[in-house]
Amino acid sequence: MRRVLRAPLTLLLVALAAFPAAAATPAGPTAGRAARDVRAHEEARARVEELREADAPPGEVRDAERHRRDVRSRLWDLLWAVEHALGDPVAVDPAGRAGHCPLGPRSTPAAPVPGEDPSWTVPTTGYRLTAGYAERGRRWKHRHTGQDFAVGSGTPVRAVGPGTVRVTTCGDGFGNQVLVRHRDGYFTQYAHLSRIDVRKGQKVRAGQLLGLSGATGNVTGPHLHFEVRITPYIGSAVPPLPWLARKGVHPEQ
Ligand SMILES: [Zn+2]
Repeated sequence: MRRVLRAPLTLLLVALAAFPAAAATPAGPTAGRAARDVRAHEEARARVEELREADAPPGEVRDAERHRRDVRSRLWDLLWAVEHALGDPVAVDPAGRAGHCPLGPRSTPAAPVPGEDPSWTVPTTGYRLTAGYAERGRRWKHRHTGQDFAVGSGTPVRAVGPGTVRVTTCGDGFGNQVLVRHRDGYFTQYAHLSRIDVRKGQKVRAGQLLGLSGATGNVTGPHLHFEVRITPYIGSAVPPLPWLARKGVHPEQ
């Protein structure tokens, strides 16, 4: 399904082969390029929305949408090459290491809560918002790429919206994690879980159980690391709270 790597990416792969295999984020110039592409994508997305809201001619909307897709596809190729070269399991083993993951029973769609918008929801309950997006800390090589929800181990973690489970992996800095692809093309990541209750390829609805919170991977205590990305790969995260706000979800501070 991947497109054939273009020549510059082949060169990039060769260059990246020299990096230590343990590196968890795209290094050096690649990180800078990825960050620029993430910003360019968010601007392109905002532009598409602006044109739609202004009832712009369909041709203009289409061109803006094509530009947005181009930016995202360039970033996708870049990060795929990086993570393939660095040995990231999300890229290298799309099936995840499910055999080693603490798997619970396969979850079923949540029953709708009366009076609640069933389309999007917070990823967990009874939390305290701790480390936010782009904060700096000793545990992160660069800036923090998600939003942390402090909850005790064993708290249900739910899909924020409808989508498909892209991958489940275990054993790296994110511990046991689930990555969901949503219909708008964004991905949400749920990390440090103690148990995983979904399987790769499974369709999930908003609020559907993905697993239980925990303290696996690189953590100092139990919490849910929630991240929003424009590709499946590390290096393409966007600020998660504004993204949730666009879906009408406002986690309490
Ligand atoms: Zn985190």
